[in-house]
Amino acid sequence: MTNLTISSISKTYANGVKALDNISLNIPKGMFGLLGPNGAGKSTLMRILATLQDADSGTVMMDNLNVLKQKNEVRKVLGYLPQEFGLYPKISAEELLNHLAVLKGISNKMNRRELVQALLHKTNLYDKRKKNLGTFSGGMKQRFGIAQALLSNPKLLIVDEPTAGLDPVERNRFYNLLSELGENAVVILSTHIVEDVKELCPNMAIIHEGKVLLEGKPIQLIEDLKGKVYKKAIQKKELQKYKKEYKVIANKHSLGQPIIHVYAEKNPKDGFEAIEAELDDVYFKEIFGKRK
Ligand code: ADP
Repeated sequence: MTNLTISSISKTYANGVKALDNISLNIPKGMFGLLGPNGAGKSTLMRILATLQDADSGTVMMDNLNVLKQKNEVRKVLGYLPQEFGLYPKISAEELLNHLAVLKGISNKMNRRELVQALLHKTNLYDKRKKNLGTFSGGMKQRFGIAQALLSNPKLLIVDEPTAGLDPVERNRFYNLLSELGENAVVILSTHIVEDVKELCPNMAIIHEGKVLLEGKPIQLIEDLKGKVYKKAIQKKELQKYKKEYKVIANKHSLGQPIIHVYAEKNPKDGFEAIEAELDDVYFKEIFGKRK
């Protein structure tokens, strides 16, 4: 049973930006959503966990492995799909995967062939295996990224902002792939898209400006907002007024009409209607007021 324990991790860049400020998280097996706006510190944390960058202080334990110190051991059981990764455009998916498998030290040709074929099937790229990577869509590239991350049968899989730029069909296919992977490993999914976490992650944390704002199970966090989220259709010009008076946590549109969600301990009346909270409400309630 794999478990990742992050204790008091801090990181300040040379330019003085404190990207991580005493982050502690306990991450069990399965999919874990790390949700936060751009600049929250997600990629910094992902790179530290992936042994690509050092923290200033703190520890990370993966079962009995000291992740920040035993880097080589960690790398053997780590899969990492960065936000953007370069692909050789003029080589086929099958060739590159095979080549990467060689680099991973899988020297037996038969075993390697079997593994490469299996991963191409798993990521639904088998039919496209002879095509050059340069012709791949965003979703296909992401699935190829997962295929290469799985070469080492990882116990820890780190996926940084994977669904940005994917169309709904591609995103759905990618979701299915990720949730399957969560059955056997710790999978950390870093994203600013609430939907990703809602669909996939039994556990999550919200981070902002390098700090953990909230940690828990999405279902429970939604439950905690029960009876505290209200909505109202307003005129566009009234928005500022409502923002001053209430804790506005969402500003949506329904058929062109602005609808606001507010957080309130009890019904503010004033034409507001109680609604079932969603994960968006949990997220924006936390981020509310903290945005610069
Ligand atoms: P996220 O992935 O949540 O968007 P990042 O970890 O990329 O957040 O960035 C966190 C903060 O650290 C941001 O303010 C960003 O500008 C800053 N930052 C990230 N990388 C560097 C770097 N190499 N040098 C200096 N500042 C950086």
